[in-house]
Amino acid sequence: MDPQRSPLLELKGNIELKRPLIKAPSRLPLSGSRLKRRPDQMEDGLEPEKKRTRVLGATTKITTSRPRVPPLTAVPQTQGQSTAQKVSKKTGPRCSTTIATVLKNQKPVPAVPVQKPGTVPPLVGGKKPSKRPAWDLKGQLCDVNAELKRCRERTQTLDQENQQLQDQLRDAQEQTKALGTERRTLEGQLATVQAQAEQGQQELKKLRARIVELEERLSTQEGLVQELQKNQVELQEERRGLTSQLEEKERRLRTSEAALSSSQAEVASLRQETAAQAALLTEREERLYGLEMERRRLHNQLQELKGNIRVFCRVRPVLPGEPTPPPGLLLFPSGPGGPSDPPTRLSLSRSDERRGTLSGAPVPPTRHDFSFDRVFPPGSRQDEVFEEIAMLVQSALDGYPVCIFAYGQTGSGKTFTMEGGPGGDPQLEGLIPRALRHLFSVAQELSGQGWTYSFVASYVEIYNETVRDLLATGTRKGQGGECEIRHARPGSEELTVTNARYVPVSCEKEVEALLHLARQNRAVARTAQNERSSRSHSVFQLQISGEHSSRGLQCGAPLSLVDLAGSERLDPGLAFGPGERERLRETQAINSSLSTLGLVIMALSNKESHVPYRNSKLTYLLQNSLGGSAKMLMFVNISPLEENVSESLNSLRFASKVRLPPVIPRPCQYLWVVVGFSIRTHLSSRPGSTTSRKVLDS
Ligand code: ADP
Ligand code: MG
Repeated sequence: MDPQRSPLLELKGNIELKRPLIKAPSRLPLSGSRLKRRPDQMEDGLEPEKKRTRVLGATTKITTSRPRVPPLTAVPQTQGQSTAQKVSKKTGPRCSTTIATVLKNQKPVPAVPVQKPGTVPPLVGGKKPSKRPAWDLKGQLCDVNAELKRCRERTQTLDQENQQLQDQLRDAQEQTKALGTERRTLEGQLATVQAQAEQGQQELKKLRARIVELEERLSTQEGLVQELQKNQVELQEERRGLTSQLEEKERRLRTSEAALSSSQAEVASLRQETAAQAALLTEREERLYGLEMERRRLHNQLQELKGNIRVFCRVRPVLPGEPTPPPGLLLFPSGPGGPSDPPTRLSLSRSDERRGTLSGAPVPPTRHDFSFDRVFPPGSRQDEVFEEIAMLVQSALDGYPVCIFAYGQTGSGKTFTMEGGPGGDPQLEGLIPRALRHLFSVAQELSGQGWTYSFVASYVEIYNETVRDLLATGTRKGQGGECEIRHARPGSEELTVTNARYVPVSCEKEVEALLHLARQNRAVARTAQNERSSRSHSVFQLQISGEHSSRGLQCGAPLSLVDLAGSERLDPGLAFGPGERERLRETQAINSSLSTLGLVIMALSNKESHVPYRNSKLTYLLQNSLGGSAKMLMFVNISPLEENVSESLNSLRFASKVRLPPVIPRPCQYLWVVVGFSIRTHLSSRPGSTTSRKVLDS
């Protein structure tokens, strides 16, 4: 141990050096231990003192060595003791301890009995001096002198001893002073050390808390490390899998690269081939386009040769519960080609009971023969009927307005023909759903040739010269509505019905939904006004728009499918009550519009300059679907019953009037060369106004 370095300083040094104190707690000195040091511990610190003490002890020994002459009194000893006590009181316990220690080493001076004056002291050497007789004054004087001499020697010795003790006392006082200084220094050091110890304790406490915290962090980190190690193992596994996949893919890539290089050569040759085929394709597209245009032209020519106004007659079958008509009432004579030819003629026999013979014999029934573009006997199916009009639907897609009417008395099968039979049976589907389906499918086919078609549907009813929307929904459903026929734009010839819905359609389902809605709207009106549907015209219109964007071509035309009001006349035998008057008004309106329709058609047939479209709402609404290059077809629906013969005859006569005799085609007409043929919007068609018509006319 370094004698110059105290343990406290060493502790301080340890704390400063951040040595782990926890490992050497025993080295920390206890508080105040300096004060309780053992003498051996004091050895180093008090080395000079000890030396002094030893010197003192030695001095004392010398001083207190047995005198050759024993002292006569105990005064000097008492004096020395009291001096030591005084020093002790002055220097404190420590100094007294030192003094005591010093004095303890002195051999006590044996007490000299006090001689009574006049008594002779005992002789040295154990020989008792003989008592001088009283008379021996000289001897006694001699003894007294000897005694005095001894006393003087003794006094001298005691003075020396006293001098020594006073020196010792000075030394002790100086020592006391030094010890006091040292004590204060030590107390200061002790306070410092205590403060340091306290600080050390606090630091220790902090360090312990830090250790706990670090241990916690360590355990967390260890958990993390474990997790990371687990992840690492998993990633290594994954890496191995990926490496094997990569190798596999690289192998495949090499194979593919080999295949690619061989394919590239193939591609190069294919490219050349493709380029050649593309040129061929362009050429073929050109040819196809030319052929399509030629087809349209020829198709239209054929339709025109067949007649832009055609009339078909359809006789409905006798329904269950109806009386069987007499044989020969309606006859369907074969055409010039025999029974294999589609029937075009119809004979109606009517026996006129008002006519009589003079002989009273039964009058033979009058036979009325009619000829139409096509006659459908009662057994004709819906698809057979549609087959005949499919070509007209094609014309509508080609950009020609098409209008199909169903004319006839109530119950003759007009609605059945246009919309279809009850129950949603697909076999009984009428012209409207079939025509729409056909349009959608042909439009789809034409999309392959670059044509894009769109269709917008409307469905209105004309009753008593008022127009009502059959596609109305919500609050307008079943209401009369304030629909008016107006020009779509100022200066435009396109017509539109105000407040009516125009619904874009693109599939059969949407058309079915519209027909269903129209039926619902009619049903509401029927309950309100007793079977109004039979006394109103239902007009289904589809605006068709086609575009060939790459060639900048457009075409558009309306397809109109009209279920006309019942053509029957009012029974003259009926009484004219308020209900009948209303009925009469309805009938007059119907007759007026139907006769206007007849007049319009006849004016168009005769190519008259004035066509009375404005005379009825019906013809006004349909004016863009009639005339010009428009194709018109009228179905005359006939009841097979004998009771309806009169009305049937009227219908047949009406239809015969509107029908033009068919144009007999000349073979050379098919050889016309088409120059500058183009398709235009035929919405504004007027007789001879369209390019196609002009081409054909030329
Ligand atoms: P209209 O509309 O002319 O008043 P409908 O179309 O309502 O006449 O026909 C009257 C009835 O005759 C309906 O029950 C209908 O199903 C039926 N009917 C009409 N034509 C045919 C037909 N070709 N085949 C079968 N039933 C028909
Ligand atoms: Mg009807």
